[in-house]
Amino acid sequence: MTQLTPDLLDGPSPFLLVPDAVLLPEGPADGHAVVVSGGSFDAVGPAEELIRTHPHLDPVRLPGHLLMPGFVDAHHHLTQSFGSALAFGEPSEIFRRVWVPLEGALDEESAYVAAKLAAFEALRGGFTTVTDAGTRAGVDVEVVASAARDAGIRCVLGLVCNDADGENPSVMDSAEKHLARYGDDPLIHPSLAVSVPEAATEATLTDTARLAAEAGAVVQIHLNEHLAGVERSLVRHGLRPLEHLHTIGALGPQLLAAHATLLTPRELTLLADTGTAVSYNPVASAWKGNAVAPAITMAERGVRFGLGTDGTRGDGFRLADAAEFAQRLAYGLATGDSSCGAGWTWLEHATRGGADAVGLGARTGTIAEGLAADFLLVDITHPEVALSWDLPWELVRRGNRDQIAAVFVGGRLRLWSGRPVGWDGQALVRRAAELSRSTVGRAAITRVHPTSTAARERSTTP
Ligand SMILES: [Zn+2]
Repeated sequence: MTQLTPDLLDGPSPFLLVPDAVLLPEGPADGHAVVVSGGSFDAVGPAEELIRTHPHLDPVRLPGHLLMPGFVDAHHHLTQSFGSALAFGEPSEIFRRVWVPLEGALDEESAYVAAKLAAFEALRGGFTTVTDAGTRAGVDVEVVASAARDAGIRCVLGLVCNDADGENPSVMDSAEKHLARYGDDPLIHPSLAVSVPEAATEATLTDTARLAAEAGAVVQIHLNEHLAGVERSLVRHGLRPLEHLHTIGALGPQLLAAHATLLTPRELTLLADTGTAVSYNPVASAWKGNAVAPAITMAERGVRFGLGTDGTRGDGFRLADAAEFAQRLAYGLATGDSSCGAGWTWLEHATRGGADAVGLGARTGTIAEGLAADFLLVDITHPEVALSWDLPWELVRRGNRDQIAAVFVGGRLRLWSGRPVGWDGQALVRRAAELSRSTVGRAAITRVHPTSTAARERSTTP
């Protein structure tokens, strides 16, 4: 038996991998193999057949491993990574008190390091694609692009197009340039972003929708996330935010609505009828939200959706688990729905559904011929999943990043046993630790909640 080592996997293209099983859309396929060439899957099929039809390739046998699609994070803020725990325990709309001041305090180096740190964490958690909702740091977004590229992760890169305050008169010029900027970049996929509907003029909301639709890109908007935002829209327009976007023609397949936690039945119908996509962010709901998106109903109604971390934590397996768990607590228990989508729903939306939602369905998210070779090798000999009866569901409930042996993006080995290939992950983490102290120190962050230790003291002091 060949011992699995990184040099076996990082040879010159093309290469032929023979794991125990390949996770296909219809389920795990035993005895399957893949041929990777030029960054894409050249062939996917029964191992014997591929070995026979590719006699010039030396098969790399991967006993005890599952080859599965990399996770797609449909909603992230890469330049917020210095402050994850600053938001813990905070009431809703923390972007006002924590994220905007934090990002505003980033300079070019700290924005780059923050974004690369987030990309590193994402790769460690099995994400091969992250969707950045647009940095509000005062730097060129190319800083974020280069961090993602240098880390080796695929990135849907949002450019913030907020102009409601009248301060961004050439917003559509910038949007057009951004969408044209990464034409031949293998890892960076440009996207437009509006923080929340009220942050842009109606003209910009409709113009960004049109421009993105023409370019095959997505517009990211935080939508119907917090009660306060929904109520502000009702007072201002007599309509909820999603209904308002519908009346101005901004819904559609190009829109990626982040969160969409507070949905009426009518808004669910609008999402389904217009082909609008959603990023369902279950951990964000638990940590800082007002509600849990009705994802199980969205699946039933054919609403397109992926799963997003919103920068909470970068572990694809834990995200899929949270997606199921949140549905179960918020909806399944009340209705006696003991299946709650079973395991496959959450794996599917964490991979293929996510790729579709972020506009990359034709590029990634599935192990299939012609698609980018964005995949994980998962060690399935650990006690958590070795005695397998239902692998998709076991991956959702019992999987975690420890079981990820290797992460490939665009056919290249990017992470091996949790460590990046070709660059120094520990040095990056050390620099991030230094820069995060000075950045947070100069950011005008307002926290409502004390630290955990202070909260303990408060609760135990008579
Ligand atoms: Zn967000």
